[in-house]
Amino acid sequence: TIVATINVPATNKFKKIKHIVLIASGKGGVGKSTTAVNLAGALQQEGAKVGILDADIYGPSIPMLLGLVGAEPKSADNKQLLPFDANGIKAQSIGFLVPSDDATVWRGPMASNALNQLLTETDWGELDYLVVDMPPGTGDIQLTMSQKVPASGAVIVTTPQDLALADAQKGIAMFNKVNVPVVGLIENMSHFICGHCGEPNYVFGKDGAITLATRYGVPVLANIPLATDIREYSEQGQLIGKDNNSAISLIYQAAARVLA
Ligand code: ADP
Repeated sequence: TIVATINVPATNKFKKIKHIVLIASGKGGVGKSTTAVNLAGALQQEGAKVGILDADIYGPSIPMLLGLVGAEPKSADNKQLLPFDANGIKAQSIGFLVPSDDATVWRGPMASNALNQLLTETDWGELDYLVVDMPPGTGDIQLTMSQKVPASGAVIVTTPQDLALADAQKGIAMFNKVNVPVVGLIENMSHFICGHCGEPNYVFGKDGAITLATRYGVPVLANIPLATDIREYSEQGQLIGKDNNSAISLIYQAAARVLA
């Protein structure tokens, strides 16, 4: 387990950021990063100034998702870290501080030091939204981050599968504990549309997110299907526009709810 000591000073880099939105998931592989980056893209398309912070110490994927693999982090004269520009979205990732092959074997202090550095030294400038791709799970480091980062709200990504939902439930409980409002759930890999007959196929079960959402009194912000082009766009480091007919453009629904 990773022991977190995250110390975001009172006069921090977040002063010029209007809203910080944490994107969380109970477990890995549910599409949290894909959702986070496309949500950031959708908020930007709606006219907001947006940044994305990849805090996923277990597998930072924002550099790949934004086509920034291999980019070197830059410091300004005042030693602040400068975020990268990915088509107008400011991006910073723990993946820029360490080669991705090593990230999973980070020892606790190394991970929390690197997170601290990202959180305290990145000069975001003025932003309407900073979208934070959280590490999956509800361990110590996630809890500490949720406590220390002045977030306006959290979005939880889950699949409809029982196991993922049980973990998502822990996520809701964690944010309740630290008084970060849960904006809603995004159900990813919600269903698969059969290429032959056009019928939805509920690969991971049906109505999982809505059942959980109803229990906790939070909305489901979007139901995003499992779709080949979502993976393909991701691998090419591309984001999806509103009028694109890819299923991930459903993320605009979620963005509208975040903006509201
Ligand atoms: P997490 O951040 O939760 O670990 P990722 O966003 O990295 O998950 O997604 C895991 C994998 O699943 C990636 O290869 C991604 O391209 C793929 N993926 C995510 N969502 C979808 C989807 N709706 N349809 C198809 N592939 C998806």
